[in-house]
Order: sequence, then C-alpha cells, then structure tokens
Amino acid sequence: MSNSSKKILINLIIQFMRFVSGQNEVLDGYILPITKKLKQGIGIEDLQQELLALSKALEHSLQMQQNSMQEHRATSTLFTQQLCVLLDTIEIPDKFATQSLTIRNQLVQNQNDELDNNLVQSAVSLILEINQYFLSEQKDTEKFLDNISSQLGLLDSMTQKASASSQASYDSRVQLNTLISTQIENIKTSTIRADDLNALQQNISIHLQDLTTNLQKHQNHADSNLLDTQRQLADMSKKIKDLEAESKILQETLKQAHHKAFLDPLTELPNRLAYNEKIEAAFKTSKRYQTPMSLMVWDIDYFKSVNDNYGHKAGDKVLCIVAQLLKNNCRETDFVARFGGEEFVMILPNIHAKQAWVVAEKIRKVIADKRFSYNNQVLQVTISGGLTDYQKTDRHSDDLFERADKALYQAKEAGRNRCVIYGELP
Ligand code: GH3
Ligand code: MG
Ligand code: MG
Repeated sequence: MSNSSKKILINLIIQFMRFVSGQNEVLDGYILPITKKLKQGIGIEDLQQELLALSKALEHSLQMQQNSMQEHRATSTLFTQQLCVLLDTIEIPDKFATQSLTIRNQLVQNQNDELDNNLVQSAVSLILEINQYFLSEQKDTEKFLDNISSQLGLLDSMTQKASASSQASYDSRVQLNTLISTQIENIKTSTIRADDLNALQQNISIHLQDLTTNLQKHQNHADSNLLDTQRQLADMSKKIKDLEAESKILQETLKQAHHKAFLDPLTELPNRLAYNEKIEAAFKTSKRYQTPMSLMVWDIDYFKSVNDNYGHKAGDKVLCIVAQLLKNNCRETDFVARFGGEEFVMILPNIHAKQAWVVAEKIRKVIADKRFSYNNQVLQVTISGGLTDYQKTDRHSDDLFERADKALYQAKEAGRNRCVIYGELP
C-alpha cells in the first residue's frame, strides 16, 4: 500500500472514529485510544490488535442491536395482541361497538409492524371511555336504587298512616288496595318484558311515581277527612261541654228552686210541702216494716196576743226562735217542719207515743222557760203539743195527723202549755 493510500485510509478511520464516538460507551473504550495513537502518528500495522478488538466489539454491538430490535418487535406484537384480547373480552356497550371494531381491525392488521402510537392511544382511550361509562352507569344504578328505596320508605310511611287512620272509610281502602295491586302488577309486567336496564329503570320509576302520587292523593284525602272529623269532634266536644255547663247551672237552679219550694223562708225550717213528702215516706216505712213512728203537732199558745202586744215583727222573731228550739231539742233523725202560721209538726221515727211524750215535754219546758227579748222587752210564750203514733189500722198518714191534731185540741182545752197523747185523756 502506497503512503498516500495509507494516509487516506488513516484519515478515513479517524473520520469514522469521530463519527461513531460518543454513541456507544463500550465502543468508545476502543475508539478513543486508537484515535489518540493514530493522531500521534503510530502506524496502522502497529494497531492491528486494537483494530481487531474494535472489530469484534463492533460485531457484538451490532448483534446486540439486532436482538434488541427483534425483542422490541415481539413486544409490540404481544402488546397489540393483548389490546385485541382486551377489546374482545370486555363488554362493549352499543354506543362504542363500531369504534371498537375499527380499532380492533387496525390492531390486527398492524400487529406485526412497528407499534403505531396513535392506534395504541385510540385503543387505550376507548377502553378508558368504556370504563368511565360503566362507572357512571353504576352510579346511575346506585342513584336509581337510592331513589327506589326512598320512594319505598315514603310508601311505607304513607301506607302505615293510611292503615292507622281509623277514619279512612272501608270503600276508599278497598279502592286504594286495588290501585296498589294494579301498579305492582304493572311493575312486575314491565320487569319481565324489559331487557334493557335503562328501560327497566325508567319503567319502574314511572310506576313508582304513579303509585306514590296515588297514595299521596289518598293520604291527602284521608288527612282532610280526618281533619274534618277532628274539627267536628272538637265542635261537638265544645258543644257537649257547653251543654254540660248549662245543665249544671240548670241543675243548681232547679235544686235551689226545689229547696226553696220546700223551705219556709221565715224560720228556714222545711215547710208543709216538705212535711207531706216526709210523712208519706215515713208512713210507708212503718207500714212495711211495722216499725213505730210518732207524730207531734205543736201550736203556740195565744200567739195572736204576742202579735197584738208586741207587734208582728216580735211575733216573727218568736216564731223563728221557737222553730230553732224545736229543731235543736230533738234528734238529727227526727224531722221538724213549720206546718203553717204558728203551728209546727215533728216526726219521730222508731219511737212510740209514750217515749215521744217525754221528748215533747222536755221541749215544751225549754220553750216555757225561754225568755224572748224584743225592743228591750222580755216576753214568754208557751206551746201545746198533741201526739200520736203509728197504728196498724192506719190507712193513710192523714189518719195520724188527725189524731195528733185532736190531741192538740185536747191539750188546748185542758189549759194549754202541755202535751197530750191522743186517747190518753179521759
Ligand atoms: P191558741 O192558743 O188557741 O192557739 O190561740 P192563738 O192566738 O195562738 O190562735 P189563733 O189561731 O187565734 O191565732 C194565731 C195567730 O198567729 C194569728 C196570726 O196572726 C198569727 N200568725 C200566723 N202566722 C204568723 C206569722 O207568720 N207571723 C206572725 N207574726 N204571726 C203569725
Ligand atoms: Mg193555731
Ligand atoms: Mg196558737
């Protein structure tokens, strides 16, 4: 080889070294020392070892590069195949079907070529979009289920109210039951027919809405009925209370009227009317049980002269005091009444005339001993009494009164200020 050819070759090698240096670390390890030696003017003959080593390193590097390219292609093919498998296995919603088929075909066509980044990007985006779609659909379903459960809760509470409402009429409840049955039947039918979740959701929602509206209507109706009834009841209850109050007042008035009718206003003792009732009852008791009962008839002696001498008011006062003395000197179970004028009657149950006479005498003495004062004047009165007691032969209470009155007359006749038992004076 001529010197000029050697120079060209050396220059070529140096150019080549420069071109490849910095591209591969391993090769750089060989290239840099060779370049340095060549620049120093060391001949190619003396660099045979180094050049041989570089040649082997180059060969190895090329082999490695080839392997890596094959590996890369295999990886790309595998990746493309896996994308196809993924698109084949995931559920593709209708709206993504065409797009998915296009991408899949392109992937199959390109599976042995270099990986197409745009195609991979489209496939990945599609898969992400499908995933997003399913997620939102799941949320919709959850929302739908929430909606159903809240509507069912509402239905439950309304049904409970409706059934608890005692005011709801039988007819309206039957109507409501039929309505609910029909709506539920509609839901069942639509569930059987529906092959699409969306359609089913919509169907069920509509039916549930109808059902809720109908129940709401029924509830409103029942509520307003209940309110009406409650108002009526409140009205009635107020009226009843008013009536009760009125009737209490009436009863009280009646009681007072009755009390007045049977009371002597001057002496405040029961009057003749009260006596008539009392003697009638006492007579019946004695007749029925054959128990003793005494009757006294009292008359103030010469009472006319009291009025004449001291005035009518003084007479009134005497009448009142005598009435109190009669009342206070007999038993609580005895009955004293003003019969009229200055006459009094006394019913003594369970005692015979003889025992009654002892009581009568005691009373007579109390009155005879009493000093009545009026306008700084002191006056005295006496009283006469006629007594009798119940006889088996008595047919009426008047029989007793007649005898007692006769005895009183006898007492008057006998000189007054005394008590006489009927039939005991000769
Ligand atoms: P005797 O002993 O026979 O019973 O004589 P007496 O005067 O009591 O009998 P008489 O029947 O003659 O008189 C009764 C009198 O009683 C006449 C009447 O004015 C009087 N009197 C009747 N009721 C009342 C009254 O409410 N108040 C007053 N102050 N006097 C009365
Ligand atoms: Mg009299
Ligand atoms: Mg008298």
